Order: sequence, then structure tokens, then C-alpha cells
Amino acid sequence: MKLIDFHIHPRPNNSYEDMKEYTLNCIEKGIEQIGFLEHGPRISPKRKGRLTTIENCNSFIERVDRLKMEFENIIGIYSGVELDFSTELKFVKWNEDLIFNSNFDFITGSVHGKYTKDYQIYIQSNIEMAKNWPVDIIGHLHIPQNYAEWTDYYRDLFGICVENNKLIEINTRVDRVWTEDIINFIVEMASEYPDLRFITGSDAHKSSAVGDGIAQFFANDYELSVSIPEMGEE
Ligand SMILES: [Zn+2]
Ligand SMILES: [Zn+2]
Repeated sequence: MKLIDFHIHPRPNNSYEDMKEYTLNCIEKGIEQIGFLEHGPRISPKRKGRLTTIENCNSFIERVDRLKMEFENIIGIYSGVELDFSTELKFVKWNEDLIFNSNFDFITGSVHGKYTKDYQIYIQSNIEMAKNWPVDIIGHLHIPQNYAEWTDYYRDLFGICVENNKLIEINTRVDRVWTEDIINFIVEMASEYPDLRFITGSDAHKSSAVGDGIAQFFANDYELSVSIPEMGEE
């Protein structure tokens, strides 16, 4: 199976040089498909998005395109944006204006901030996002240790993801990584949804962290279908 890291923030500056350094580290670690992304508009006023104007989005995409050409046939490189989930219409419109006018390879939607305070709100927000948001990937889905209590919600989410062709991201960042118990639970649940697909992401914010946890995850050869989103079909 091809190693995939589709959650890479090329910090500090998202520059071409930063991205190139990350790419070289990925190649060294045997990662074959990578997704660079940055945050779009943020729901929390304390946080700053990096891809909040069409100009920012286009120049980010151009830098990724330059690397794509340079590393063609060596590694698959894709450009993306990580959107915050919100129910606020003005915010939703801002996101839509942005993504419908830019040409990202993929869109990750993540539930952040105030929607994470309570797990019921959190999981319902993920379901709502899978139902109605034009995202390809449900970002870093958090599964708590009392996961069994939420089984019905996961059924809802998985069913909608299959129906709407969304991938679920398995995040390997240390504080987000799924425990062995959780993985076994997910593998068993996923067996009821043969078309359900997953994707892996390290959530690296520095170049030495790319691929962290990814090779270990793939080495386990779990019975989950892991792939990148289908692209270029429009
Ligand atoms: Zn996130
Ligand atoms: Zn992120």
C-alpha cells in the first residue's frame, strides 16, 4: 500500500522553499502521496487563517504546482485547504466564495474551536459537514475512549460519507492518534460499509515531522480502505 500523508502544514511560511524541504523529507521517508494544506478562514478570532483570500489561495496552489512539476514521477503532490466548520451563514459563504473560485486538489473540513467543547455537538457537526459541506475529507476525526456510546452517530456519519463520497482522516499526530482499541472498533464498524474510505495525515507543522506515525499505521495493514480523494473528474 502506498504511504499517504495528506495533512501537512508547510510552516513557517508556506513558501516554495518550505514546501520543497517538506517534500524532500517525505521522499526520504518513503511517503508516496502528500497533501499540502493550510487553514482557510478561522472561526476563532484568536486564530489566523492563511488562505483567506483568492490571491493567497492561488499563490499557494501555484507553489504546489511548481513542486508537482519538479518532482513528477517521484512523489504525488496535491494542494488543499483546511476549512473550519461553522453553522454561521456569513462564515459558510466566505468559505464557499473562496473554494468555488480557487482550484485546490482537495478540501479538508475540520471541526474546531467551540464545536469541540461537547462531544455530541462535535460529532453532530461532523455529520452536518459530511452532509452539506463541499469537502472531500473529514479532518482528524476524534474518537473518545467511550466510543461505544456513540456507535449510532458513527453509523450515521459513515453512511453519509459513503453516500457523499467523503474520506475520513485518520490523524497520526500524537495527541490525536487512535488507540489500538479504537482502531479495532473502527475496523469492525467499517466492515459494514465496504465503500467507506479513509485517508491518513500526520498534521506536521515542521518539516522533520512529516510522515510521523504514517509508516507505523500502514505497517499494521488494517482492513480499512485507505486512499487519496478522486480528483480531476470535473
Ligand atoms: Zn485541524
Ligand atoms: Zn491542520
